[in-house]
Amino acid sequence: TQGFLKAMEEARVLNAYITETPEIALAMADASDKRIAAGEARPMEGLPVGIKDLYCTKGVKTTAASKIIADYVPQYESTVSQNLWDNGAVMLGKLSCDEFAMGSSNETSAFGPVISPWRAKGSTAQLVPGGSSGGSSCAVAARLALGATASDTGGSIRTPAAVTGTTGIKPTYGRCSRYGIVAFASSLDQAGPISSTVRDCAIMLKAMASVDPKDSTSVDIPVPDYEAGLEGGVKGLRIGIPKEYRLEGTAPEITAIWEKGVEWLKAQGAEIVDISLPHTKYALPTYYIIAPAECSSNLARYDGVRYGHRAADPKDLIDLYERSRGEGFGAEVRRRILIGTYVLSAGYYDAYYLRAQKVRALIARDFTEAYKKCDVILTPATPAPAFAIGEKVADPITMYLYDVFTVTVNLAGLPSLVVPAGVNDAGLPLGLQLIGKAFDEATLFRAGRALE
Ligand code: GLN
Repeated sequence: TQGFLKAMEEARVLNAYITETPEIALAMADASDKRIAAGEARPMEGLPVGIKDLYCTKGVKTTAASKIIADYVPQYESTVSQNLWDNGAVMLGKLSCDEFAMGSSNETSAFGPVISPWRAKGSTAQLVPGGSSGGSSCAVAARLALGATASDTGGSIRTPAAVTGTTGIKPTYGRCSRYGIVAFASSLDQAGPISSTVRDCAIMLKAMASVDPKDSTSVDIPVPDYEAGLEGGVKGLRIGIPKEYRLEGTAPEITAIWEKGVEWLKAQGAEIVDISLPHTKYALPTYYIIAPAECSSNLARYDGVRYGHRAADPKDLIDLYERSRGEGFGAEVRRRILIGTYVLSAGYYDAYYLRAQKVRALIARDFTEAYKKCDVILTPATPAPAFAIGEKVADPITMYLYDVFTVTVNLAGLPSLVVPAGVNDAGLPLGLQLIGKAFDEATLFRAGRALE
């Protein structure tokens, strides 16, 4: 813990942490030492982790990387972080992310962008760590935490993992409790870990997952010992390759690593099957209707009256609402609220929101059909490696396109693991995505282990 705290201090230039909690960390580490000495170590005893600043931590500032709740100190702990502490983990601090987890590059944080520790060969350009869990991926990649919590609504665990050479899993919707995690789009949000290896992710997810009476969408299915099943190999496992994921505009090194991934799995005895997910092309437009719709509803509570920043000297109630929200929310969040309000309004609801929900059902059905022929699906994680800070901020559509391989999974509620799969010619990390059947994270870990 002391080593990590020192590394955090020396790497502040990366801007991974919004809040460092050295006193809490040292006290927790001390308590862990005592438990270890007494022979009472729990599964994550003494292991220092960072917490995405979307997770409520009792008595420790939780900002969602937004000005609107920049001073919020929760009175309660999120179930997932509580589960980690109950398993012996040590809290190093709160990690930056995109504002309310809306973004793919960690550039929408009110506290400034997070900078990836990676550089392309021969270049000094600062790169994004992916988003929205960019503080989490940066901290793990730069060894500023052994592991980190993250959350994934449309790719926010997997994209950051893919572009920083780290490992991340978005579990099945309902595997982890959402209680105490600041909501973005409740039917899509899911908690999960980012860490260095598949084994670390397996250990962390086991500790994080639980059914929770405080989240009625959490599911009462036993959480297997993922670590115990890791070395089972992929012999006989049927790996589906969806033809719709061969997309124009994908960087050549991404296509190449995908092909290599197929070869690696085949060489270890997996059976490769061609599959089709015919509604893939509708996933992005569907996601960018449903996610903003739910966001506009969830973020309605920050009105300057009950919650959040309050504008000074309002002339009336409308002025108070407008200025509090205008001052408190950043541009991307405001854009999502406007889109969401529009698609939910009378006259447009049927044309956009209802239609999107129907397409969502078709996307989910594609996977059900595909899983009659295969056990796990292998795809790219992102269409390109990490880009430079500032490169895409002016153009939200290009930013949204970066989620093309990840959003389908959230719409279908499925688990998905991203593992590092090597580097491109510039030495930048490339990830591969494995998508599993509902509640079959164990098979994903096993296949991921075979790709490591
Ligand atoms: N990049 C996607 C978005 O901006 C996904 C974000 C997330 O998973 N939280 O909505």
